[in-house]
Amino acid sequence: MSFELPELQYSYEALEPHIDSKTMEIHHSKHHQTYVTKLNAGLENHPDLLAKNIYSLLSDFNNLPEEVENVVRNHGGGHYNHSVFWELMTPTFIEPSENLKLVLSANFGSFENFIAKFKESATNLFGSGWTWLIKSKEGHYEIKNYPNQENPLMHGDHPVMGIDVWEHAYYLKNQNRRNEYIESWFNVIDWIEVEKRI
Ligand code: MN
Repeated sequence: MSFELPELQYSYEALEPHIDSKTMEIHHSKHHQTYVTKLNAGLENHPDLLAKNIYSLLSDFNNLPEEVENVVRNHGGGHYNHSVFWELMTPTFIEPSENLKLVLSANFGSFENFIAKFKESATNLFGSGWTWLIKSKEGHYEIKNYPNQENPLMHGDHPVMGIDVWEHAYYLKNQNRRNEYIESWFNVIDWIEVEKRI
Protein backbone atom coordinates (compact mmCIF):
# COMPACT_ATOMS: atom_id res chain seq x y z
CA MET A 1 0.00 0.00 0.00
CA SER A 2 1.18 3.48 -0.74
CA PHE A 3 -0.08 6.95 -1.50
CA GLU A 4 -0.39 7.96 -5.15
CA LEU A 5 -0.36 11.16 -7.17
CA PRO A 6 -3.95 11.81 -8.26
CA GLU A 7 -4.62 12.47 -11.93
CA LEU A 8 -5.95 15.89 -12.84
CA GLN A 9 -9.46 16.04 -14.28
CA TYR A 10 -8.25 18.59 -16.87
CA SER A 11 -5.09 19.16 -18.89
CA TYR A 12 -2.15 21.28 -17.71
CA GLU A 13 -3.05 24.00 -20.22
CA ALA A 14 -6.79 23.97 -19.42
CA LEU A 15 -6.60 26.79 -16.88
CA GLU A 16 -4.84 29.20 -19.27
CA PRO A 17 -4.66 32.17 -19.33
CA HIS A 18 -5.37 32.38 -15.59
CA ILE A 19 -2.95 29.67 -14.41
CA ASP A 20 -0.23 28.84 -16.95
CA SER A 21 0.48 25.32 -18.17
CA LYS A 22 4.18 25.26 -17.19
CA THR A 23 3.32 26.12 -13.59
CA MET A 24 0.59 23.48 -13.57
CA GLU A 25 2.91 20.83 -14.99
CA ILE A 26 5.76 21.47 -12.54
CA HIS A 27 3.40 21.97 -9.60
CA HIS A 28 1.57 18.68 -10.19
CA SER A 29 4.21 16.36 -11.70
CA LYS A 30 7.18 17.58 -9.63
CA HIS A 31 6.10 19.32 -6.42
CA HIS A 32 3.07 17.22 -5.62
CA GLN A 33 4.85 14.03 -6.74
CA THR A 34 7.68 14.82 -4.31
CA TYR A 35 5.27 15.13 -1.37
CA VAL A 36 3.80 11.73 -2.29
CA THR A 37 7.21 10.07 -2.74
CA LYS A 38 8.57 11.44 0.55
CA LEU A 39 5.40 10.56 2.44
CA ASN A 40 5.65 6.95 1.26
CA ALA A 41 9.36 6.79 2.07
CA GLY A 42 8.84 8.31 5.52
CA LEU A 43 6.13 5.79 6.39
CA GLU A 44 7.83 2.69 4.97
CA ASN A 45 8.14 1.17 8.47
CA HIS A 46 4.50 1.92 9.27
CA PRO A 47 2.33 -0.23 6.98
CA ASP A 48 -0.70 0.51 9.15
CA LEU A 49 -0.34 4.23 8.37
CA LEU A 50 0.37 3.61 4.68
CA ALA A 51 -2.90 1.68 4.52
CA LYS A 52 -4.94 4.68 5.69
CA ASN A 53 -6.45 7.25 3.37
CA ILE A 54 -4.85 10.68 3.58
CA TYR A 55 -7.90 12.31 5.20
CA SER A 56 -7.87 9.86 8.14
CA LEU A 57 -4.09 10.01 8.45
CA LEU A 58 -4.20 13.80 8.93
CA SER A 59 -7.36 13.76 11.06
CA ASP A 60 -5.59 11.42 13.48
CA PHE A 61 -2.47 13.60 13.59
CA ASN A 62 -2.42 13.93 17.39
CA ASN A 63 -2.20 10.17 17.85
CA LEU A 64 0.68 9.54 15.46
CA PRO A 65 4.01 8.12 16.65
CA GLU A 66 6.38 11.04 17.27
CA GLU A 67 8.93 9.84 14.70
CA VAL A 68 6.49 10.31 11.81
CA GLU A 69 4.97 13.64 12.90
CA ASN A 70 7.24 15.75 10.69
CA VAL A 71 6.85 13.63 7.58
CA VAL A 72 3.07 13.58 7.94
CA ARG A 73 2.87 17.31 8.69
CA ASN A 74 5.06 18.28 5.72
CA HIS A 75 4.50 15.59 3.10
CA GLY A 76 1.15 14.20 4.20
CA GLY A 77 -0.12 17.77 4.47
CA GLY A 78 1.44 18.56 1.08
CA HIS A 79 -0.23 15.56 -0.53
CA TYR A 80 -3.66 16.32 0.88
CA ASN A 81 -3.52 20.10 0.32
CA HIS A 82 -2.59 19.70 -3.34
CA SER A 83 -5.13 16.93 -3.94
CA VAL A 84 -7.89 19.30 -2.79
CA PHE A 85 -6.36 22.25 -4.63
CA TRP A 86 -6.59 20.51 -8.05
CA GLU A 87 -10.20 19.60 -7.39
CA LEU A 88 -11.06 23.19 -6.45
CA MET A 89 -10.09 24.45 -9.90
CA THR A 90 -11.95 24.07 -13.19
CA PRO A 91 -11.63 25.31 -16.76
CA THR A 92 -15.42 25.83 -16.86
CA PHE A 93 -16.21 28.57 -14.39
CA ILE A 94 -19.70 28.56 -12.88
CA GLU A 95 -20.99 31.30 -10.58
CA PRO A 96 -21.46 30.33 -6.91
CA SER A 97 -25.00 29.24 -6.08
CA GLU A 98 -27.41 31.34 -4.02
CA ASN A 99 -27.27 28.66 -1.33
CA LEU A 100 -23.48 28.90 -1.03
CA LYS A 101 -23.67 32.70 -0.98
CA LEU A 102 -26.25 32.54 1.82
CA VAL A 103 -24.12 30.24 3.98
CA LEU A 104 -21.06 32.42 3.59
CA SER A 105 -23.01 35.67 4.01
CA ALA A 106 -24.34 34.39 7.33
CA ASN A 107 -20.77 33.94 8.56
CA PHE A 108 -18.99 36.87 6.95
CA GLY A 109 -21.66 39.57 6.63
CA SER A 110 -21.88 39.22 2.85
CA PHE A 111 -20.46 37.01 0.12
CA GLU A 112 -18.40 39.95 -1.16
CA ASN A 113 -16.97 40.42 2.32
CA PHE A 114 -15.99 36.75 2.46
CA ILE A 115 -14.15 37.09 -0.87
CA ALA A 116 -12.41 40.27 0.24
CA LYS A 117 -11.30 38.74 3.55
CA PHE A 118 -10.08 35.54 1.90
CA LYS A 119 -8.02 37.50 -0.63
CA GLU A 120 -6.64 39.75 2.10
CA SER A 121 -5.57 36.76 4.23
CA ALA A 122 -3.88 35.06 1.29
CA THR A 123 -2.11 38.26 0.26
CA ASN A 124 -0.83 38.88 3.77
CA LEU A 125 0.33 35.35 4.61
CA PHE A 126 4.04 35.68 5.43
CA GLY A 127 6.35 33.26 3.64
CA SER A 128 5.04 29.92 2.34
CA GLY A 129 1.68 28.45 3.27
CA TRP A 130 -2.02 28.17 2.56
CA THR A 131 -5.14 30.20 3.21
CA TRP A 132 -8.19 28.05 4.01
CA LEU A 133 -11.86 28.53 4.55
CA ILE A 134 -12.56 26.01 7.31
CA LYS A 135 -15.62 24.69 9.07
CA SER A 136 -15.07 24.23 12.80
CA LYS A 137 -16.50 21.39 14.87
CA GLU A 138 -19.11 23.86 16.13
CA GLY A 139 -20.14 24.57 12.54
CA HIS A 140 -18.61 28.05 12.22
CA TYR A 141 -16.85 29.07 9.03
CA GLU A 142 -13.54 30.88 9.39
CA ILE A 143 -10.63 31.95 7.23
CA LYS A 144 -7.29 30.72 8.54
CA ASN A 145 -3.69 30.89 7.38
CA TYR A 146 -1.37 27.93 7.91
CA PRO A 147 2.40 27.86 7.42
CA ASN A 148 4.11 25.48 4.98
CA GLN A 149 1.94 22.37 4.40
CA GLU A 150 0.03 22.37 7.68
CA ASN A 151 -3.62 21.52 7.13
CA PRO A 152 -6.86 22.30 8.99
CA LEU A 153 -7.43 18.57 9.65
CA MET A 154 -4.38 18.56 11.94
CA HIS A 155 -6.20 21.14 14.08
CA GLY A 156 -9.58 19.41 14.08
CA ASP A 157 -11.12 21.71 11.46
CA HIS A 158 -12.73 20.67 8.18
CA PRO A 159 -11.05 22.16 5.09
CA VAL A 160 -13.52 23.69 2.61
CA MET A 161 -11.54 25.86 0.20
CA GLY A 162 -7.80 26.52 0.13
CA ILE A 163 -5.31 28.43 -1.95
CA ASP A 164 -1.63 27.57 -2.20
CA VAL A 165 0.42 30.75 -1.85
CA TRP A 166 3.86 29.15 -1.97
CA GLU A 167 5.91 30.98 -4.61
CA HIS A 168 6.07 27.75 -6.66
CA ALA A 169 2.32 28.19 -7.28
CA TYR A 170 2.76 31.45 -9.18
CA TYR A 171 6.35 32.66 -9.53
CA LEU A 172 6.91 31.56 -13.15
CA LYS A 173 3.98 33.66 -14.37
CA ASN A 174 3.42 36.34 -11.75
CA GLN A 175 6.88 36.60 -10.12
CA ASN A 176 6.49 38.62 -6.90
CA ARG A 177 2.91 39.70 -7.68
CA ARG A 178 1.06 37.29 -5.42
CA ASN A 179 -2.09 39.44 -5.48
CA GLU A 180 -2.24 39.06 -9.29
CA TYR A 181 -2.13 35.25 -8.89
CA ILE A 182 -4.86 35.34 -6.23
CA GLU A 183 -7.10 37.37 -8.55
CA SER A 184 -6.43 34.85 -11.36
CA TRP A 185 -7.24 31.92 -9.10
CA PHE A 186 -10.71 33.35 -8.48
CA ASN A 187 -11.37 32.95 -12.23
CA VAL A 188 -10.88 29.18 -12.07
CA ILE A 189 -12.51 28.26 -8.75
CA ASP A 190 -14.97 25.39 -8.95
CA TRP A 191 -17.73 26.77 -6.74
CA ILE A 192 -19.69 23.53 -7.07
CA GLU A 193 -16.75 21.70 -5.50
CA VAL A 194 -16.55 24.31 -2.74
CA GLU A 195 -20.26 23.89 -2.00
CA LYS A 196 -19.85 20.09 -1.78
CA ARG A 197 -17.30 20.62 1.01
CA ILE A 198 -19.49 23.07 2.94
MN1 MN B 1 2.13 23.84 -3.99
